[in-house]
Amino acid sequence: MSNFEIVIGLEVHTQLKTKSKIFCSCSTEFKSPPNTNICPVCCGYPGVLPVFNKKVLELAVRVSLALKCETNKSIYFERKNYFYPDLPKDYQISQYKMPLGERGILELPSGKKVNINRVHMEEDAGKLIHKEDCSLVDFNRTGTPLLEIVSEPDIRSPQEAYDYLTYLKLVIQYIGSSDCDMEKGSLRCDANISLRRHGDTKLGTRVELKNMNSFRGVRAALEFEAKRQAKAIESGEKIIQETRLWDVDNLKTVVMRTKEQAHDYRYFPEPDLLDFSVSNELIEGEKALVGELPIERKERFLKEYKINQKEVDIILASPWLANFFEEANKAYPKSQELSNWLLGPFLEQVNALEKGFDSVKISTQKFAQIVRYFSEKKLNNLAAKKVLSLSIATDQDIDGIIEGEGLTQVSGEDQLSLFIEEAIKDNPKPVKEYLEGKEQAIMFLVGQVMKKSRGNANPQVAKDMLKRRIEE
Ligand code: ADP
Ligand code: MG
Ligand code: ZN
Repeated sequence: MSNFEIVIGLEVHTQLKTKSKIFCSCSTEFKSPPNTNICPVCCGYPGVLPVFNKKVLELAVRVSLALKCETNKSIYFERKNYFYPDLPKDYQISQYKMPLGERGILELPSGKKVNINRVHMEEDAGKLIHKEDCSLVDFNRTGTPLLEIVSEPDIRSPQEAYDYLTYLKLVIQYIGSSDCDMEKGSLRCDANISLRRHGDTKLGTRVELKNMNSFRGVRAALEFEAKRQAKAIESGEKIIQETRLWDVDNLKTVVMRTKEQAHDYRYFPEPDLLDFSVSNELIEGEKALVGELPIERKERFLKEYKINQKEVDIILASPWLANFFEEANKAYPKSQELSNWLLGPFLEQVNALEKGFDSVKISTQKFAQIVRYFSEKKLNNLAAKKVLSLSIATDQDIDGIIEGEGLTQVSGEDQLSLFIEEAIKDNPKPVKEYLEGKEQAIMFLVGQVMKKSRGNANPQVAKDMLKRRIEE
């Protein structure tokens, strides 16, 4: 294996997040009963005319910009002709000679840069369901909008392919163009792989892998295929350009078709759709929506909030959490304290809520208020967690909760001093021991104060006050 360099290029299809299909008004709902979201247009009846869904263009342009592609303003579609039972029109409307975007780049968190060859819009085909004695076809998916994203052969290992897919998915989800849910088929990947001797500049013969249904599957298929090709080359065999399927049960790739059986799609411009140009307004609008990519946001978080990388990674793993954190910082710019509370008690309580983040009602201001009260020692740890638990799904008034729950007594030294006096008066022995230099004795007195305050005192404040009072 180490004699060879692995070369990988990925073709990713993502389903763009629209309510209706790309050329008709049928719903894109994924769970509907078979053949209920169909009409004469997506089923290719004679005489019908497709109408392009503008939302598809917006979401596609957004991805093209996020991948830093040169975005072509003049758009036209082409027909990709082939026969297959899941394709009622016998052609797929796609983009060919002039894709929406070209020559982009995706920089991975590792710093690796993967060049993007092209992104183009197209429609999806239907779905075949194979039974024992027949095959059924469901056309619900026919005409669902897809964006195909083709990378250059810049990826150098199966793990790097996995990292590319993971980050690409994060970016696309982040900008809201697709759910990228492999289980629902809203993200699919074909992987192309070849080997060459180290130092060679010419690419080896590639094999295309299909049928992987998870990122881990892509990685496993590539690992298998790299070994298979290495063995073949070492033993003098020639690699054949072919398409292979990942057989997940037997963990190997098997031939699907060779180059000779490759289709000639006879592309030609789609005559039923007019050419058009993308307006500058649309592009500028989408640019604004792309905003900051996850990797750029990470760099800014590290610089701006001065919390460590591990914390940043956890916060940024959820756009919801990241936005909440940023807003809370506006209300109370003590990032480290906010991060401690967010990643600790807050996440713990969120996990216990029925709908996770969707159940959270507390405003960032109120969350910041609790953290501030804790920092000011108005609330001790236990009390602050209690206040949080009562406000997290309700957004109740914080001072009201503190008042109502009788947590107020912890605030301020005035209320504590009463308990301090009592503890000192009732326990002369530990007081004497402390004065004689037994540092530990103070902890007994702290315990007494905690008891008297029914757990609401701040132990650190109580300890400081006790020491001061005894030493007086
Ligand atoms: P096709 O439609 O024939 O699959 P595409 O241009 O859509 O062709 O996709 C080709 C994919 O294969 C790209 O991702 C590209 O980076 C990759 N690729 C091309 N040549 C090689 C090679 N020799 N080794 C590995 N990957 C390759
Ligand atoms: Mg291909
Ligand atoms: Zn339709």
